[in-house]
Amino acid sequence: MTTHEILKRYWGYDSFRPLQEDIINSVLKGDDTLGLMPTGGGKSITFQVPGLFFESGVTVVVTPLISLMKDQVDNLKRHGIKAVCFHSGMSGKEVRYAWEKLMYGKAKFLYIAPERLQNERFMLELRQIDVRLIVVDEAHCISQWGYDFRPSYLRIKSLRLLKPNVPVLALTATATPEVVDDIMLQLDFKKTNIFKKSFSRDNISYIVRYSDTKIHDILHILSRTSGSSIVYVRSRKRCREISDFLSSADISSTYYHAGLDFKVKEQRQNAWQSNAVRVMVATNAFGMGIDKPDVRVVIHYDIPPSLEEYYQEAGRAGRDGLASFAVLLATKTDPGVMRRRITEAFPERKIVKKTYERICNFLHVSIGEGYDSVREFDITKFCNLFEIQEKQCRASIRLLSQAGYLHFIEEIDSRSRFKMLCPREELYDIHEWSINAEKTLTATLRKYTGVFSDYVYIVESDIASCTQLSKNEIYEAMLELSRMKIISYIPHSGIPMIYFPTAREETSSLLIGKNIYESRKNAMSARIEAMLDYTFSKKDCRVQRMLAYFGESDSGNCSKCDICRDKRKKLKSDSNNQTEIINNILSFMKTKPDGTTLTIILQQCGKDTALISSAISFLCNEGFMSCNNNIYRLNSSVI
Ligand code: ADP
Ligand code: MG
Repeated sequence: MTTHEILKRYWGYDSFRPLQEDIINSVLKGDDTLGLMPTGGGKSITFQVPGLFFESGVTVVVTPLISLMKDQVDNLKRHGIKAVCFHSGMSGKEVRYAWEKLMYGKAKFLYIAPERLQNERFMLELRQIDVRLIVVDEAHCISQWGYDFRPSYLRIKSLRLLKPNVPVLALTATATPEVVDDIMLQLDFKKTNIFKKSFSRDNISYIVRYSDTKIHDILHILSRTSGSSIVYVRSRKRCREISDFLSSADISSTYYHAGLDFKVKEQRQNAWQSNAVRVMVATNAFGMGIDKPDVRVVIHYDIPPSLEEYYQEAGRAGRDGLASFAVLLATKTDPGVMRRRITEAFPERKIVKKTYERICNFLHVSIGEGYDSVREFDITKFCNLFEIQEKQCRASIRLLSQAGYLHFIEEIDSRSRFKMLCPREELYDIHEWSINAEKTLTATLRKYTGVFSDYVYIVESDIASCTQLSKNEIYEAMLELSRMKIISYIPHSGIPMIYFPTAREETSSLLIGKNIYESRKNAMSARIEAMLDYTFSKKDCRVQRMLAYFGESDSGNCSKCDICRDKRKKLKSDSNNQTEIINNILSFMKTKPDGTTLTIILQQCGKDTALISSAISFLCNEGFMSCNNNIYRLNSSVI
């Protein structure tokens, strides 16, 4: 099959989008390739088509989030493409099964989160696999200078060492020129090879509105537009407030943030996706992997900390190419708030070190111990115990993670899983369990199939409603059953983990280098200043400014942003004024057949001296008037 046939057969599309084909050809030639395309531009196809084109072997895809990975694998399966992924929630059996598929050509794609690359077993197994292409999705995460640096991305280098002859394809939607260079450097590109699609999105009007009553502005904007919309805010609490406010004003809306139950999130996302609800009020947890073509308006209640993030979120508008709006709301106090985020993100070194010491104590890791171990870490409990602010604690943890002392693994599979350990026949012999445990087990077995052979996702609240027990009672019963070794139960854990890649160090010998601290702090500050410039400067076209930031310096005015619109309005009103002034001058000059001086004309014909002077020179140049010895006269042809 040719690449076109593959595209048609698996996706039903007739043609590639601009650049997709160039990237695919470069990959098939075996070149290391960097593809820069805006969100929604169709990056996935650029590795999925080559992956299918290779007759044998596997394409390894590194992607930052478990949720994204699962989305993509499910998506491929829907198109009849065999793919597997590895994540921390899989049972040993699931893992073995996945390796077999890869080994025997039953899966063409392997999706992994970068953390996986530190697992020696994984790397050993991977050595046996015939890898054809390494894909790094969201490749900006590898750069320290990018807005979304993830230290675990640096491990991708070990993948390159393991498979030195396999080409790499790095993909990202947002990269400034320095991040682009860094990606190629970090991934050890054999030579510079970039494919870049312009980041301009011609159907989006970018607007900044200065406002002290943002919530009313949201209502104002939404009531003057129609169609699916997203309102981005930075606080979970405000998500709800704004959504309630809109609903009370008869605009159908719902809200979404990472703190909601998996099921609730899914329901709300579906309601919005199917246009049953018009407005989604959300934190930035909403959007990755969402592909809704007809979003007409994206409003930002708070200013994002970088243009990269703003561009990405605003870019969820108008994927269908129809006219859409991206509105950023700004107020006088925003710059102060944003600059404060820099100090918050970089607590003093001594605070960072103290946090390390406290975490180790809290988790009972003594000096010299803890190497390569994982512990549950309840950050809220920790912060309460030591009376520290969670924000500051997270910032310290992030720095410690970048320095390689510990990793905070927060994004774990958020659904509970369940598997039977005890064979069905033996269940009848069990008598010493509680009534709740028995009820819970009976209901679970009735509701879910396949639990004797593998882990199955379960939803405790569903079991609760079949049994008339509370969710908590179900949880307790599950724990009881697992203590009795009747089941294996992996509760959807609200408790994230801390991983120690090294043994605990003496606090005084912790090293938090300049590259992690000062350099990154400066980079963050530069991103915030660029964002503030975009927001508060009234000089240049918004799009031009944004594109220049992404390295496109040759773009013209967009003619649609608020600044271009205002300029046009001013031009129009200037030219209206100009006509009026010309008429004034002409009528005045008719009353002065012997001519008059410039001073008198200026006094008599209006207020704006600059406009009057330019009108006079226009009239002289065009032959309506002439000037002799500083006396202006109307030409006879006009009289
Ligand atoms: P990105 O990763 O760049 O944000 P995706 O790979 O998720 O974008 O693709 C966005 C959407 O565009 C998907 O629905 C995809 O199926 C669609 N798409 C990609 N390539 C084509 C094409 N050649 N023709 C039509 N639709 C396409
Ligand atoms: Mg993508």
